Amino acid sequence: MNKPTPTPVTGLPWHDIDTVMLDMDGTLLDKYYDDYFWEKYLPQSYARKHLLSNKEAEAQLLARYKSVESTLQWTDLDYWSEHLGLDIARLKSEITHLIGVHTYVVDFLQWIRAQGKALHLVTNAHPKALEIKLNTTGIEHYFDKIICSADVGAAKEQPPFWRGLESLLDFDKKRTLFADDTVKVLAAARDYGIGHLVHIARPSSRIPLRYSDEYPSVADFSELLPD
Ligand SMILES: [Mg+2]
Repeated sequence: MNKPTPTPVTGLPWHDIDTVMLDMDGTLLDKYYDDYFWEKYLPQSYARKHLLSNKEAEAQLLARYKSVESTLQWTDLDYWSEHLGLDIARLKSEITHLIGVHTYVVDFLQWIRAQGKALHLVTNAHPKALEIKLNTTGIEHYFDKIICSADVGAAKEQPPFWRGLESLLDFDKKRTLFADDTVKVLAAARDYGIGHLVHIARPSSRIPLRYSDEYPSVADFSELLPD
């Protein structure tokens, strides 16, 4: 059971941080869109195509998702288009009204920019999924650089991702803050040596808060902003 008490993050040593790296799905954007797409919308399309019940399609797809968990295939829209015989990017584009930016994200991005810190988006999202989300939300202009794990050749959960990032971004890992909603990703970042880590405890607006007891954990970015 997750404990309802977060590790407090008050007093982040901002003077020791000159680079901020942020995950996208679940951290900046409401993960409800992704959950709904993969758990409901895609299985419905798959069920229609293969004449299955929705429940059968959900069970079959869930097993396939699990087989590639924490790898680049999991987020590769071309992989799923090919394996399921469906145009995944087109299906994703059909429900963009469900894409939402979490509360206080824009305030936080503006504040980081105002502090003159480097700000990067670091995501496992496939370039096609990234494009749909940036076009819908308009958050692109806040970032100095946007890195997809496909550019690096490994998922953020995998150690080669972090070593590979060094050739794409100029940063001092000890003076970098990284925020993500996935504990496995935070563990890989910690093992690599990222100096400041923050866990996002409410990735989806439809799922109860789930604090991490391993990392400073916040419900939203208002908790990282100064009073
Ligand atoms: Mg995420």
